Order: sequence, then C-alpha cells, then structure tokens
Amino acid sequence: MRSEKDTCLLCAQNPACSRESHIIPDSMVKRLRKSRGKVWKVDASRRDKRALIEQDVSKERYILCDDCETYIGFLETHFGQAIKKFVEQNRIGDDFFPLQQIQEVGDNITKVQTAFVCFKAQPLMTQLLIDSILFRIHIASKSTFAYTTFTSEIVKQLRINLLTFKSKAYNEVLDKCKTYNGSNVFFTPYMLYCPMTEIVTSGEIMYEFIEPTPDFLKILAGEYWIWIPNRPIQSAFLNSGKTLVKVLRLTVQQYEKMYKEMRELYDRIDAYNDGVRD
Ligand SMILES: [Zn+2]
Repeated sequence: MRSEKDTCLLCAQNPACSRESHIIPDSMVKRLRKSRGKVWKVDASRRDKRALIEQDVSKERYILCDDCETYIGFLETHFGQAIKKFVEQNRIGDDFFPLQQIQEVGDNITKVQTAFVCFKAQPLMTQLLIDSILFRIHIASKSTFAYTTFTSEIVKQLRINLLTFKSKAYNEVLDKCKTYNGSNVFFTPYMLYCPMTEIVTSGEIMYEFIEPTPDFLKILAGEYWIWIPNRPIQSAFLNSGKTLVKVLRLTVQQYEKMYKEMRELYDRIDAYNDGVRD
C-alpha cells in the first residue's frame, strides 16, 4: 500500500501526492460514461473475490507528485483539444480530414479502412500521452492493469521520454516537443482507434482493458483503442512522435466485435479465478 511517505514513481524526486491519479485519462472515457456503462474490473488485489463492477475508471493515490500530475494533465489537455474535440464533433475540414485505404482486386476497388488525420495534434506531444498511459499501466497496482508490467528497459525508456519534456507550463511542453532534435527519445509506434459516432448502450460496457496478442498489445482506454505493435510493421495508419496523428474509425460493428472478444476474454479470466478459488 502506497502512502504519503512514498516518492513519485515518474520523477523519483518529489513526494507522491494524495491527488487521485487516473490510470487512463478521464477525458477518454467521458463520452462513453454518458451511456451509463459499467466498468468490468479484474482486480488483482481482490483475487479471491468476484470481479468488481464499478461506475468509474481506476484511480490511485500516492503514485505521482503534484508536478508530474500537472504535466500529464497538459498532455491530456492537448489530446482533448487536438484530437478528441474533432473526433466527437466529426468536423471534417483542414484540421481533420479522412484518409482512405483502398484495396484493388481486378476491377474492384473497395475501401478497406478510413483514418482521420488530426492536423492540429503535435505528434510528439500526442505520443507522450500514449507513453504516459503505458507508464501508468505499469505502475497501477489495483485495477484491470495491475496484471501488466513491462520490462525495466521499457519503463526506463518511458520515463526518459516523459521526463525529457516535463515543464511547468503547457506551452513549454509544446515548444520542447516541436523543437526536439535529440536522440534519447524512443518514438513509440501505435495505432489509435475510436468510434466516430457515439456508442449508446443501456447495458454494460467496458471502459478499460488490456489484451496482449501475438502482434499487438491492445489497450482499451475509454472509447479509444490503442494498439502497440510487438514488432515493426508497415501501415500508413501507424503513428509515432514523428508522423501526423491518425485516428482509425471503428465502426459500430467493429466496436461490438471488439467488445464481445474482450468480454469473452474477461469471462475466461473470471472462470479461471473461480477455478483458483475452488
Ligand atoms: Zn514526479
């Protein structure tokens, strides 16, 4: 159990604060929460009990300091202004425009996938938010993510990435990202999916989940789905701190399929826990 005596896990300098840190950004969840979904949690600290069903995403105290919380808040603000706003308003224009991947078979050309370019998003600042989510998943101790940790090399690199740009003001972080030409940052590749229309459901829904697959680490963060490839891949829609940020559209059918697969995996984990209890 962490307490006020502990040190911030990110900067490893300041005392950890009592503010509740979200493991995944609350802004990524907000639109979904309106549909009154519930969070299904496989809680590592309650292994002997049934999985929890809660209304809110995971939060923890005494993991970060005030300064690091504020800094991560800047990354979340940037995401909100440069990506989320456009996704939710579906405002096609110079700052948010569709890119289509097509497949040609004989005379047939079919649209395979649509991604939206978020022109206002600063690529590196957006990547830092993804890095911060990975870091927070690593340090989470009592949520769905408590089962997941990364190797010490990965964690070291995530901390380097994040601490390189840590500043006391939003514009300082943005300027450092825009002008970065150093070599100590790793450009984390990721795919970013989101339904463009609001998913409305009166039933249960998942806000947070993690699914390691052979090809990708798939993180469900609210209504966003973040895929980190396990090996180098070629895709026009792959993001990193060096490329324009693209959000792939999840159709309602794709969303439902994803949700069903995660529920099945969740049920298997729950059944496994039941077995352990017997
Ligand atoms: Zn700190």
